[in-house]
Amino acid sequence: MIPKLPPSPSLSALKVTLAFLIFGAASVLLSDHAVDLLGLSVVETSLLQTGKGLLFVTLSALLVGLLARRTALQHQALAAHAQLQHERLQRLVDVSPAVLYALRLRADGGFDTDFISPQLLDMLGFSPESTPPDAAWWLQRVHPEDLPRVMAAHRGTLLREGCLQHEYRLRHAEDGYRWTLDQSVLVRDVDGQPAGVIGSWLDITGRKQAEEHARLIARVFEDSHQAICITDADTRIVTVNRAFTEVTGYTLDELAGRPPSLLKSGRQDAAFYAAMWRQLRRQGRWEGELWNRRKNGEVYPEWLTLSAIHDAQGQVRQYLGVFTDTTSRKAAEAHIERLAYYDALTALPNRSLLADRARVALATAQRQHGQVLLMHLNLDDFAAINGSLGLAAGDAVLREAATRLGRHLRPEDTLCRQGADDFLLLLPHTRASDAMSIGLRLMQALAAPLEVQGQPVTLAASIGVAEFPTDGEDLAQLSQAADSAVHQAKRAGGRTVRFFSRELQERSRETLALLQDLRQAVARQELVLHYQPQVDAATARLHGLEALLRWRHPVRGLVPPGEFITLAEQSGLIREIGTWVLGEALRQTAAWRAAGLAVVPVAVNLSAVQFRDPGLRDQLIGLLRDHGLPGHLLELELTETVAMEDSKHTIATLASLKQLGVRLSIDDFGTGYSSLGYLKRFAVDTLKVDQSFVRGLNYDRQDEAIVANIIALAHSLGLATLAEGVETAGQREFLRQHGCDQLQGWLFAKACPAEEVEAWLRQPDTALGPQIQLVA
Ligand code: C2E
Ligand code: CA
Ligand code: CA
Repeated sequence: MIPKLPPSPSLSALKVTLAFLIFGAASVLLSDHAVDLLGLSVVETSLLQTGKGLLFVTLSALLVGLLARRTALQHQALAAHAQLQHERLQRLVDVSPAVLYALRLRADGGFDTDFISPQLLDMLGFSPESTPPDAAWWLQRVHPEDLPRVMAAHRGTLLREGCLQHEYRLRHAEDGYRWTLDQSVLVRDVDGQPAGVIGSWLDITGRKQAEEHARLIARVFEDSHQAICITDADTRIVTVNRAFTEVTGYTLDELAGRPPSLLKSGRQDAAFYAAMWRQLRRQGRWEGELWNRRKNGEVYPEWLTLSAIHDAQGQVRQYLGVFTDTTSRKAAEAHIERLAYYDALTALPNRSLLADRARVALATAQRQHGQVLLMHLNLDDFAAINGSLGLAAGDAVLREAATRLGRHLRPEDTLCRQGADDFLLLLPHTRASDAMSIGLRLMQALAAPLEVQGQPVTLAASIGVAEFPTDGEDLAQLSQAADSAVHQAKRAGGRTVRFFSRELQERSRETLALLQDLRQAVARQELVLHYQPQVDAATARLHGLEALLRWRHPVRGLVPPGEFITLAEQSGLIREIGTWVLGEALRQTAAWRAAGLAVVPVAVNLSAVQFRDPGLRDQLIGLLRDHGLPGHLLELELTETVAMEDSKHTIATLASLKQLGVRLSIDDFGTGYSSLGYLKRFAVDTLKVDQSFVRGLNYDRQDEAIVANIIALAHSLGLATLAEGVETAGQREFLRQHGCDQLQGWLFAKACPAEEVEAWLRQPDTALGPQIQLVA
């Protein structure tokens, strides 16, 4: 707003002077003429002239006074106006964020400072009063890097275009530089010649900083090794960084506007994501591990941090997701786990892993009132091996020992290297009575010939045994017990098994005694075979016989196979015993045949050790030839577990046995794990349905379903079925109706001595068991 000026004088000075001249001259001439006309006397005329002159002077004085007063008033108003203007300008200068300046061009081409506003103090740290009159001082404060550009702009743009706007750095009196926006205008004189410059300096360091900050953040975002994704409030992807693309394989173009859920692997369920969102909404942040899927389909683990970004009103504006691909960390963790849980030398579980497994095994045993064994095995004379052959040889021996011991354990057992030549064995579901034979088997495994660095080495061990719960409640107590037992074994000269408690020692002594007796059993002719009939399901006529082993112990009486077969297998005696059984069964059959009886095939149970023996086929050829019997009179029973153990080997062995004409059956079918694919390729004739299922017939729906299905399955594979353990007419009826081919069980006959079998052989047409009216 331009303030109003007081009214200007209506007449100019010249006009006033002229008006006064005309008025004065006119009044002098007219008044003189008027006086003449009056015709007054000289005296009167002189008086009148004097009065007239005085009047003129008075009027003139009044006029001059009036004019003077008027001028004074005008002057006052102008001064006030100027003051007001000045104050206003001053205020404008004061509130301006910029430093304002006015420079005057000198004759020598330089500039003097006419005016510079006090903001200079704030901006550059010195007061305007302290600046030198020569304006060149500020050129000295321009950053050397910017100076050439600034000089050029002044000489060029400013002179040419009359105005200039540019940015450069000015040095502060005390610290650093200030980025300055300089806007200036060239002032020209009346002739149009440059006379000076007016302009302003604005400190833009802060703005400048903000831009730098933004650039820096963008750089960090892009260069971060962590993958970053920003979505809008509706979780549509807004941007992702390079690391994100590297990890996921997706570029921003492919992702923009899409939800991050397109990376889902399916490994987390809906509940997982629900919980994640719940926390994100409630706390604004979620952190955790999840599995996502890369563009190439690969699933990978990531550690993800999610944050909600709110505006000033508290509304979510964006979501920020930052994650690292933890694939390699997972690998590192697995490696660390290996280091933490496995022995580096032998790759066996270490004590920590053993402790874990022991906790589980002991808790299970406690619930089931079962037993767990802990064995401490220490190699005998290991120090001597180390000493004579060196540490490398010692290591090789330890590795070999670990391998050999491991071969004789079940999958549920844990063999751990506790340190040096000390091994701990955790055997769940095992009683102390089994420990002796297990211990002996392990010692036997170690004793096999071994060569290290060309030197023959004989390995032997001492074993200490402790049993849960008899000798301890936890691993610490049990290992202490096993430890003291192994010391006893060492004191006794090594190469032996010792038990911690007297009770176990006692029981093991019993087992050991039994084992010693069993060694003699074959030679002393204490073993006998009983035979149990297998009948045709439809007619109940004799179809075959199963040879079942009995031990006529001089003191204990008739010992059932359940009490000594495991011991025989563990001690290796089963080879000798098995050979005897095969020979005896064939001898008996041949004898019956020679006696003119109508012989039926005899089924012999084959243990795993026998089945794996590569000499089995030749042995059978020899026996059949010796007794002059055709192969079809012999049936070999193999348990499902043994058959499936090494299926490829089984296929080959069974095929080679089949060539001899012998019959083959799978015993205890349904209790193990069968692969149908293999079953089809096994050259077997019969599946023997385990008696545990037969027991449930007529009241257990599940057992009935299993039996019905086994029969159907066998038939679909072209195999015959035999159900064992048939005790009731109801079971028999169920089996018959479901098409089972043969039956075996107490309903027809128990296993009995050979003499009693002869009666059935003489009357091959007689039906065994209770005579019932068969439904047509
Ligand atoms: P297995 O091969 O499953 O033999 C069937 C077992 O069930 C026999 O017990 C038999 O007496 C019994 N049994 C037969 N019918 C019935 C019945 O209706 N009800 C009941 N509750 N039981 C019945 P055994 O003779 O005590 O033989 C037990 C196991 O010993 C056999 O089971 C077999 O695995 C093994 N075995 C027997 N003799 C030999 C042999 O010479 N060599 C080998 N390696 N193992 C043998
Ligand atoms: Ca059997
Ligand atoms: Ca069986």
